[in-house]
Amino acid sequence: MTVQGFFSAKANAAAQAYAMPRIAVIGRGFSGMMIAIALMKTVRNPFHLQLFDPNSSVSGGQALASGHSSEILNSRVRDLSVSAGDPDDFNEWLCGNAPFRSAVPAAIPGFQQIFVPKSIFSDYVYQRFSEAFASRRDVTVQVSGEMVTGLRRLRGSCFLVESEGAANAPFDMVVLATGYGIADQESQSGESVNIPTAVRARRLVSRPHTVLLGSGLRVVDTLLQMRDGGYAGQITIVSRRGFLPQSHTRNNAEPVFPADRMPNQLSEIIRFIRRACEDAEANGQSWQSVMNGLRKHARSLWRALPAGQKQRFNRHLRALYDSHRNRLPEALHVRLKQELAEGNTLLRRGHFIRRTPTGLTLRPAGQQEIEQLYADEVIDCRCQAPDLDAPLLRKLIDAGLAVPDELGLGLAVEATGALAVDGRTTDGIFAIGPLGLGSLPDIDLVPEIVTQAYAAAETMAERFHPQCKAV
Ligand SMILES: Cc1cc2nc3c(=O)[nH]c(=O)nc-3n(C[C@H](O)[C@H](O)[C@H](O)COP(=O)(O)OP(=O)(O)OC[C@H]3O[C@@H](n4cnc5c(N)ncnc54)[C@H](O)[C@@H]3O)c2cc1C
Repeated sequence: MTVQGFFSAKANAAAQAYAMPRIAVIGRGFSGMMIAIALMKTVRNPFHLQLFDPNSSVSGGQALASGHSSEILNSRVRDLSVSAGDPDDFNEWLCGNAPFRSAVPAAIPGFQQIFVPKSIFSDYVYQRFSEAFASRRDVTVQVSGEMVTGLRRLRGSCFLVESEGAANAPFDMVVLATGYGIADQESQSGESVNIPTAVRARRLVSRPHTVLLGSGLRVVDTLLQMRDGGYAGQITIVSRRGFLPQSHTRNNAEPVFPADRMPNQLSEIIRFIRRACEDAEANGQSWQSVMNGLRKHARSLWRALPAGQKQRFNRHLRALYDSHRNRLPEALHVRLKQELAEGNTLLRRGHFIRRTPTGLTLRPAGQQEIEQLYADEVIDCRCQAPDLDAPLLRKLIDAGLAVPDELGLGLAVEATGALAVDGRTTDGIFAIGPLGLGSLPDIDLVPEIVTQAYAAAETMAERFHPQCKAV
């Protein structure tokens, strides 16, 4: 769905942007759409919103939008509401959606526990965005199809957004929602399963062979899409730690967590969580319930950990943690296990070194020798942290407006997304979503992004004194 058409009717209203506070949102993925919704529902004063992104579609972002109707979200409907204080909003939207209801009759009266295709969630987000916009005659929205290359603070507290196109008028506030960076066009269009970066090699083996790098949800999505698309060749998954996503439970896994005081050393925390999982299983509950319960404590736990222990967690435990928090719907997990059991898909633990004209080189786990792996194609499915050397982020850091978090995974942010520099808040700039992953655990997931977007919108509402006039 392109946004230009949607906004053309209101294009002239942009003139009203004079004298209104001006907010720039950089990135129109899920985080960008979410902050736009939160602002329109939270800020009572009129304002002008400008949404920058070279990707022309409004679709929930590269992770959540998919051209493949078969791609299922890994979160249950109950965890995907975009409405603050109304966790049932997505379920209600589905109940009111006649085509969906007739396709999934068994789930009536409610869909809270089911998993739905990404495209349906994307439609829901877009509709809530459209409704929020339609209900605000005093808000103007402008869509800019440009990549933002820099951000400068002007005199006073205004910001100049530097983009590839015409000069922009100054902004009062800026929200960075750049997530995983600029996605390649092929993966955005959903035309090909060769996401995100693939290289073709000279054919040296008799049977087609594809290597997938990584071990997270992207790997599973890509593997199953390839099989759905008829690919019958050999697939090798090369993963450093070898942890593939675990399974959700068939039924609801309500969060549980021991009430006992949590230890504050990483090794003791791990023992504590292991024991909690064992106790839950022994009591007829599931370890998944404990992981769901852990999410409620993750932020305070993370805050209390010394930097050295955070680094240890990142080096040795993050992959294991990710495989337990980013879970697959049971049916997809069964398919993954079948794939591996049948032998047409192999999981190899090892360190990817480089691509070669005939495939790649890797160092298998526990070995010193480097191995050459022949493949027709190598597809990089690793979930990359935000690139702090991207021009926009680099300029922000160089100007002292932002600093990398202590793990170098993204920018240092507060819970509201406000940028934190040496213990102080950078007034007027916020970063929503995965950019804050080194500061806030799970901030790459929908429920946490929703909470953060409303918290940012509340903070912005309190500071609503326009100073930057359009020129
Ligand atoms: C395969 C996969 C499945 C997932 N499934 C789930 C799930 O089931 N449940 C869940 O809760 N979470 C899930 N997640 C995680 C979560 O949904 C994502 O973290 C979230 O969608 C991130 O959205 P975003 O808008 O911050 O980032 P992105 O989707 O990366 O969007 C960022 C946007 O910013 C734009 N941009 C970047 N740089 C610039 C610039 N300089 N100027 C202008 N525009 C720019 C890009 O073009 C892009 O459109 C999944 C993630 C993956 C990878």
